[in-house]
Amino acid sequence: MTVIETLPTLAEAARSGAPFFGGGTIWMRAVNAGEAPPRLVRTADPALRDIQGAGDAVRIGAGVTMAQILARGDLSFLHAPARAIGGPQVRNQATVGGNLFAPHPYGDFAVALIALGARAVLAGQGGARPVEEVVRDRARPPLVAALEVPRPRDARAFGWLKVSRVKPKGVSVLSIAVLAPREGGRLRGVRVAFGAMGPHPMRAAGAERALEGGALDAAAIARAAAQAAEGLDPPTDAIASAWYRRAVAGVHLRRLLEGMA
Ligand SMILES: Cc1cc2nc3c(=O)[nH]c(=O)nc-3n(C[C@H](O)[C@H](O)[C@H](O)COP(=O)(O)OP(=O)(O)OC[C@H]3O[C@@H](n4cnc5c(N)ncnc54)[C@H](O)[C@@H]3O)c2cc1C
Repeated sequence: MTVIETLPTLAEAARSGAPFFGGGTIWMRAVNAGEAPPRLVRTADPALRDIQGAGDAVRIGAGVTMAQILARGDLSFLHAPARAIGGPQVRNQATVGGNLFAPHPYGDFAVALIALGARAVLAGQGGARPVEEVVRDRARPPLVAALEVPRPRDARAFGWLKVSRVKPKGVSVLSIAVLAPREGGRLRGVRVAFGAMGPHPMRAAGAERALEGGALDAAAIARAAAQAAEGLDPPTDAIASAWYRRAVAGVHLRRLLEGMA
C-alpha cells in the first residue's frame, strides 16, 4: 500500500527524500496496481502553482498544470505543447514538473522547455540548472520548484510539432521544438530538441550545427533534416520502431523549419 502524504512546504518535501507526487497522472497507475513505493509526498505550498514575470522570462511553478498554462494569454508561446498533453482531464492534473520526468514516450512539454533554454529551480538548493541536464536524472529526480522560461523574441522564432498516429490525443511518434532567433537575417543561438527520440527529451546537436550562423533557407533546412537524428537513440515501442523514428525525424524537422522560414 502507498501513503501519499501532504507536507506544508516545498522545503519539507525536499528534505523528506521521498519521491514527489505532482498531478499524479503517471503515479496513480502504479499506486492502483500496488507498484508504487510505500511513501510519496506532495505539498500544498502555493509557490508551486505560481506564475510570475511579464518581461523577457517567466517563472512557472513546477506544480502549474497544462490547463493553467492554456488559461494564460501571455503564455501563448507554450499553448501548442500544453494542448498536446493527453485530453482535458489529463491536462487538468498534468504538471509542468511531472512532464520533465514522465517516461518515454511522454515529455512533450519538456521538449519545448529545452528548446526555449529553460532552467529548473531546484527546491532547497540555490540557483537553477538547464532543463536538458535535469531531465537526465531519472533514477532519482531532484525536486523541481519552478521553471525559468525565456520568452521567444517573436512568434516566428519558436516552433513546436508533435507527430502522433491517433488524433487528437495520441502519444508521440516524436515531438520537436526549435528556437531560431534571427539577427540581421542570420540564425543566432539555435536550439533544436526532440522527444521520444531517446530515453528522455534531448537536444539535436547535428541539426543545431547545420542551422547556426546561416540564413533559414532551403539549403540549411535540408542540411538540418539530414542530420536530425545524429547522436539520438530512439527506442522501439508499440507506436513506432527505432528505425521508423530515425527515418521520419528529418522529414518532420524540415516541415517545421519550412513553416518558420
Ligand atoms: C491518458 C494519458 C495521456 C497522456 N498523454 C501525454 C502526452 O500526450 N504527452 C505527454 O508528454 N505526457 C502525457 N501523459 C503523461 C503525463 O500526464 C504528463 O507527462 C504529465 O505532465 C506528468 O505530470 P504529473 O504531475 O501528472 O506527474 P506525476 O504522476 O505526479 O509524476 C511523474 C514523475 O515526475 C516526478 N515529479 C512530479 N513533479 C515533480 C517535481 N516538481 N519535481 C521533481 N519530480 C517531479 C514524479 O516523482 C514522477 O517521477 C499522459 C498521461 C495519461 C494518463
